[in-house]
Amino acid sequence: MAEGALVGFLGASSEVLPHKQWDLVSCRFQQEYGAAVVRSWIKPLTFCSSASGIVTLSAPTPFLRDWVVNNYAHRLVEFWQEIDSAVQSIIIVTAHEQSFWDTTARQNAQDNTESPSRVNDFGALDPKLTFENFIVGKPNELAYAAARRVVDAVTVAFNPLFLFGGVGLGKTHLMHAIAWKIRNNQSRQVIYMSAEKFMYQFVRAVRFKDTMTFKEQFRSIDVLMIDDIQFICGKDSTQEEFFHTFNALVDNNRQVIVSADKSPSDLEGMEERMRSRLGWGLVADIHPTTYELRLGILQSKVQNSSLSIPVKVLEFLAHKITSNVRELEGALNRVIANAQLVGREITLENTQDVLKDLLRANDRRVTIEEIQRKVAEHYSVRLTDMHSTRRSNQVVRPRQIAMYLSKVLTPASLPEIGRKFGGRDHTTVMHAVKRIDALIGSDPLLSEDVRLLKRMLV
Ligand code: ADP
Ligand code: MG
Repeated sequence: MAEGALVGFLGASSEVLPHKQWDLVSCRFQQEYGAAVVRSWIKPLTFCSSASGIVTLSAPTPFLRDWVVNNYAHRLVEFWQEIDSAVQSIIIVTAHEQSFWDTTARQNAQDNTESPSRVNDFGALDPKLTFENFIVGKPNELAYAAARRVVDAVTVAFNPLFLFGGVGLGKTHLMHAIAWKIRNNQSRQVIYMSAEKFMYQFVRAVRFKDTMTFKEQFRSIDVLMIDDIQFICGKDSTQEEFFHTFNALVDNNRQVIVSADKSPSDLEGMEERMRSRLGWGLVADIHPTTYELRLGILQSKVQNSSLSIPVKVLEFLAHKITSNVRELEGALNRVIANAQLVGREITLENTQDVLKDLLRANDRRVTIEEIQRKVAEHYSVRLTDMHSTRRSNQVVRPRQIAMYLSKVLTPASLPEIGRKFGGRDHTTVMHAVKRIDALIGSDPLLSEDVRLLKRMLV
């Protein structure tokens, strides 16, 4: 049943006229990046042609073209392939120049014999997604170490390596990094593809009665990497085919690397035997980012781009855009693009202005822990002093301010706040709130501090 539906879907998609495909790609951008990005970068592009797997778009200016190439190239190809899997590369031209952005994709396009399931279709790798560009922090250190290990190992260390984590946290980045490293430094043959592409190829092979060629391409490889395996959940025959490929490779001591948005046991719609098999090797998860990691990523992006952006702005972004790294990068790109387009200096105020909609979407309740951390940082006291019984003036005032802010910025009750401050009584919290309230009226310095802290927190 699943297969019939899929073939139908493929048939339907290839009937979508190319310029309509471009509309669909724009819609995908809208979903993923929001209206502002589409307005600034996607809408100005016009569709020119589509032939032999190469789509040509035209950009009004070289600046816009370069910007899209540098920031959205990879996604553009991916989105287009979702709609028409025959598309191999996209070229953006301006009136006077041409730009081929992806040599891998171009290579693939040239190699493209028109056979229904092509051999050695490795899928394009994004040149930016390397180990060198991957910032390591607590949330991703295990996944990173495992990825390095797979690259360096002489014998297969764990099979499969299963990387999982929420959207935009760096799974694909790590997968590409592994593939690059193996492809560039070793004689091992590696195939990287999304589960979606695996499925498309398989379905096409079935449709053209050429599953032999499809299977053949995996026979001689050393490393198979499948990204976003959750995609084949519930797609029974694709799953079955993957299971066979997987077993054949593992039995022959070839490395398999898989990524997903959930752990193997949480992959609903995945057959039990497959789930358990996926969990046999090393399962490494990527946790949600921390403030430190987000700041590190922003700093490295800025370093690479030789732009100067005030630290305050980066701290602000790292603090505010907490959903995932993709959105964080998107925010930074918007700030930079805006500054370049209007020729304005990048300041905290401009940033808040440019990102208004995004900030609203990321608006979240600040937690008592964050308040404690921010206040401790601001007054250079230790975080533990927020909970300690120390009564020196140096720590009492910041602690009271943190209690006050907890009361006004969170829905927590006085007893709850007391508990979070080392098990203090609710009357202590009430006293602190009253005290700071009074001081705000009489002490301009303290009042300014509180205003600043509030602004940093919400
Ligand atoms: P996922 O596949 O988990 O949805 P991606 O690997 O596509 O996420 O990451 C989204 C974006 O964030 C990419 O542009 C990637 O380069 C970037 N990114 C994610 N994690 C990191 C990191 N630790 N260091 C640098 N960039 C990162
Ligand atoms: Mg991904």
